[in-house]
Amino acid sequence: MYKTILVPIDLTEDNMSRLVIPHVENFARQEDAHIHFLAVLPPLSSFYGMGSLPVGHYPSEKDRLQHAEAGLRQVAAQFNLPEDRVHCTIAIGAPRDRILLQAEEIGADLIIVASHRPDITTYLLGSTAASVVRHASTAVLVVR
Ligand code: ADP
Repeated sequence: MYKTILVPIDLTEDNMSRLVIPHVENFARQEDAHIHFLAVLPPLSSFYGMGSLPVGHYPSEKDRLQHAEAGLRQVAAQFNLPEDRVHCTIAIGAPRDRILLQAEEIGADLIIVASHRPDITTYLLGSTAASVVRHASTAVLVVR
């Protein structure tokens, strides 16, 4: 039933990613599904003007993408999945928009997300997870 599964990963939150591992593995096993991991980075322009680094000390877009790709592959390696069924993509923009777009592009039939950062207990459903649940045209599994 679920052959193409999108698993959005927040690279800044290892614990949140770990939560979804058994669920993804279970669905992947049932149908030999393809698992598409997606990490969304904020646009580089959003860092300017924050004053945290002098101009010229920002990583180049290429370095940033390469670094993110390596990070995402590391996260993916924590899942026990057949290599030929694992796909990793980095996108830039607003996480919820890019997640919904990627789901359309790959023809996902299931999206698996964690509900929210484990250390933030005020919200039971994070903003990205909430938007995905609300706007996705596919089934969404929210892991708690
Ligand atoms: P919180 O608001 O507590 O950080 P989120 O709604 O952002 O919670 O996170 C829930 C889920 O949304 C994550 O487990 C992940 O699947 C997805 N997500 C959040 N941010 C990103 C991102 N930058 N790239 C890809 N997926 C993300």
